[in-house]
Amino acid sequence: MASLTEYKKKRKFDKTPEPGPTKKKTKTGRMFVVQKHRATQLHYDFRLEVDGVLKSWAVPKGPSLDPTVKRLAMQVEDHPVDYGKFEGVIPEGEYGGGTVMVWDYGTWVPDDPDVDASLQKGELKFTLHGKKLKGSWVLVRTKLGWLLIKHRDEFASKDDILEEEPRSALTNRLLEEIARDNGGDVEKAAKGDPPGVLAAVRTPARKPASPARRPAPRK
Ligand code: MN
Repeated sequence: MASLTEYKKKRKFDKTPEPGPTKKKTKTGRMFVVQKHRATQLHYDFRLEVDGVLKSWAVPKGPSLDPTVKRLAMQVEDHPVDYGKFEGVIPEGEYGGGTVMVWDYGTWVPDDPDVDASLQKGELKFTLHGKKLKGSWVLVRTKLGWLLIKHRDEFASKDDILEEEPRSALTNRLLEEIARDNGGDVEKAAKGDPPGVLAAVRTPARKPASPARRPAPRK
């Protein structure tokens, strides 16, 4: 059942810049988004639009393109569709306090159009059309929680996409830059960026991106 009651209960909307609990549909009705979230623990929030909300799973280790790798995905409360565009800082002390990046987004297509039935059955097969994640995937429910697994196809790979493409799909920023632009905890956020990429950004030999070329922080 799609409901934003729990989402609303967990947040104070006069304290957090996160979107309010409004149900709505995108044009396609099939948005998908992965948000990299440097909260107490770094994790990736995997979200699929279903019936006017984003069905959501927290994936501690993030998605893997390797079909032999099964990534634990803990189902969390449904989120509003507007959340798919949220990138910024949730104040420390608030629920989920920390920096949020839109790591990937796009549309998704379920193999079986009856998504509710697939979710109840505990096996949801789908295709992703993202900027980073593409091709065939499955979410399967086990006793431990759901598992997110890449199916074998031309997009399967042993490459570590989390390390290779650590920047925002929306603004091309690292977590560190999102935190800085939004008055967040920069040091904490930077712990979620790959050290090698941060080092490259910081080395004086390479000119750092000029602030003017960086997208303006969200208002
Ligand atoms: Mn999260």
